[in-house]
Amino acid sequence: MSVVVRGIGWIALYVAVAVVPLVFAVIGPVEGGRGFWVEFSVALGFVGMSMLGAQFALVARFRAVAAPFGEDALVQFHRQISYVALAFVLAHPILLQIGGVDIVALLNLAEAPWRARCAVASTVLLLIVVATSVWRRRLRIRYEVWHLLHGVLSVAVVALALAHMLLVGYYLDAIWKVWLWTVMTVALVGLLVWVRVVAPIRRLWRPWHVEQNTAERGDARTLTLAPAGHDGLRFRPGQFGWLTVGRSPFAVTAHPFSFSSSAEDHGRVRITIKALGDFTSAAGDIAPGTRAFLDGPHGVFTPDRHEGPGFVLIAGGVGITPMISILRTMVDRGDRRPFLLIYAVRTMDEQTFDDEIVRVSRRLDLTVVPVPQDPPPDWEGESGFVDRALVQRHLPDRYRHRQYFICGPTPMVTAMEDALAALNVPADRVHTERFTFV
Ligand SMILES: Cc1cc2nc3c(=O)[nH]c(=O)nc-3n(C[C@H](O)[C@H](O)[C@H](O)COP(=O)(O)OP(=O)(O)OC[C@H]3O[C@@H](n4cnc5c(N)ncnc54)[C@H](O)[C@@H]3O)c2cc1C
Repeated sequence: MSVVVRGIGWIALYVAVAVVPLVFAVIGPVEGGRGFWVEFSVALGFVGMSMLGAQFALVARFRAVAAPFGEDALVQFHRQISYVALAFVLAHPILLQIGGVDIVALLNLAEAPWRARCAVASTVLLLIVVATSVWRRRLRIRYEVWHLLHGVLSVAVVALALAHMLLVGYYLDAIWKVWLWTVMTVALVGLLVWVRVVAPIRRLWRPWHVEQNTAERGDARTLTLAPAGHDGLRFRPGQFGWLTVGRSPFAVTAHPFSFSSSAEDHGRVRITIKALGDFTSAAGDIAPGTRAFLDGPHGVFTPDRHEGPGFVLIAGGVGITPMISILRTMVDRGDRRPFLLIYAVRTMDEQTFDDEIVRVSRRLDLTVVPVPQDPPPDWEGESGFVDRALVQRHLPDRYRHRQYFICGPTPMVTAMEDALAALNVPADRVHTERFTFV
């Protein structure tokens, strides 16, 4: 089945999950006389509820779901659609009030019935979930703390909303409707059990150990991971995995890292980590022999999905890691197609993989354009920020036919997407990986 067909299939399933309770709600005998606004409000509540449930599936790292879109796009969708779900949930009590139900009176929680208390608690928690996600950095919440909070509060939001729905009892008049909601609830609980229990157990059976920990230029470390008692993993160049080191696979936070080794090297996996925060800055302390767990491969940022007569790779800083994997893999495959690598770094001394780039360029048709932001005094090459004019100066003839891979800081990736669009490169030939999900 083609990627496009699978993509359409998943979108259709998402829409079905969102609206199915609505269709079922109106089939069969409907209590009359409640008026349009009340019915409409209940409909919005049901759809908002299903969308919140589906949020878990979007970020459950199911490879089959992510395959047509990419993990990055799923996370973006999870984020954007949460505003729509929130709007539906907030519209629900407002429309009820318009429809003549005295919602304001129910806000007196001391005297309100449990169905109202559950609704208020669920809505307040949902607002906290959204606010802490949108303003996490501004609120200075550490990623790990936010991640844990986000998971726990989201489960509470859905559980309280379900309790509200059951206590109100609208459209739950027939046993098969109760069954429908039971099936959806069981599916949701099953999803949580899969993500938090079954998947970690599967990883527990496939441990890795750190074989080497080597320093790289640019304040980075490369961990060489060897499978302990299993056959390792096969990945495509450019893909990434979620890494847990020295902790159990049940630990809530794993960190995503691109593989930097050749995809043709089936015995070992290498990951290159730049010191940026608490986990990454401690990478130098990871001793050889330490146990690790890998969840992967993930991601669609790979030339293996996109045939082309040649490739343009644009990397910023540690965004070089998937590119070096691509280049190493192409060397191992004896690929003869032309590659252009534009590599933005702060200073030439911080150029991670400088030696390796020289090595692979001897065995590939590779042109390298280093772009230091602060060039050395005698520098004659490109410098400053990578922009449209700079890229245009180095693009070959018939550049629109090439496949473009861009990885680096979000502002650079976005600027490059705009630049390539302005140069009329078709959007389906431009592939990006952003190293910040949240
Ligand atoms: C698909 C992908 C591939 C990546 N590949 C590489 C790579 O090859 N080499 C490399 O050095 N870095 C890579 N990163 C970035 C790397 O994951 C973060 O730098 C690292 O997780 C930061 O952790 P920290 O605790 O050191 O920093 P913190 O100070 O805790 O976090 C810094 C920022 O990193 C992000 N982050 C932190 N923890 C996580 C997490 N568990 N999951 C997702 N994002 C998180 C958050 O946006 C946070 O604000 C990649 C990121 C993604 C999304």
